[in-house]
Amino acid sequence: MKKIVLLGPPGAGKGTQASRFVAVLGVPHISTGDMVREEIKAHTDLGEAIKKFSDKGVLVPDEIIIRLLAKRLKEPDCKKGFILDGFPRTLQQAEALDRISKIDLAINLNVPDEVIIQRLSNRLTCRKCGAIYNRLTLKPKRDNLCDECDDKLYQREDDKPEVIQERLNVYRKKTKPLIEYYKRRSLLKDVRCDDLMTPPEVTFEKIRSIIDSAEKHKARV
Ligand code: ADP
Repeated sequence: MKKIVLLGPPGAGKGTQASRFVAVLGVPHISTGDMVREEIKAHTDLGEAIKKFSDKGVLVPDEIIIRLLAKRLKEPDCKKGFILDGFPRTLQQAEALDRISKIDLAINLNVPDEVIIQRLSNRLTCRKCGAIYNRLTLKPKRDNLCDECDDKLYQREDDKPEVIQERLNVYRKKTKPLIEYYKRRSLLKDVRCDDLMTPPEVTFEKIRSIIDSAEKHKARV
């Protein structure tokens, strides 16, 4: 039960939750968004090619992102499993993933638009380690500094208000249909997170109990 996909709109808390489950499950957190940002930061040819998509909040072409992900999943730390955050985002990506690996669970973080907009417009990210904070709900101990590595926090280019709406549109059109895709395969579990102020621990416990019961169920059959 360790090949897990986290689904949900941008800002649903996929990254926050996935990073917390690394210690619990002993598998890597694979965020295609982080991979994209790393390529851009390193100014690789690929980074230069994908920056224009990412800054505008539109999806990087499927063939590029599938190639990046397939390469990452071949690394030895993925043998025992992985938590995917931000992939798949289109039907074509979900089909490619099915060919690469057999997924155990798809957990959908179900969050209303108002909550998403509040969250993203107040999100702060650490430039160095990628840790995520929020001006309203998850404040860093010191203003604009990362608790973990003391580096400066910044607002992502795509967390600016004009880009947030575009990301939500892209999500609705391209990614939301994946809920049905995984439902049809009996792999989908839904976690509702309706309230902006719900602490991440509450969602964490809900996800943990879903994973635990899926494991117990698997042991029985
Ligand atoms: P979000 O917070 O919107 O979920 P991410 O950090 O996951 O953002 O991704 C940032 C950007 O990286 C996306 O807007 C997109 O341009 C690109 N990206 C990340 N994952 C994918 C993917 N699976 N397919 C296409 N583009 C992606």
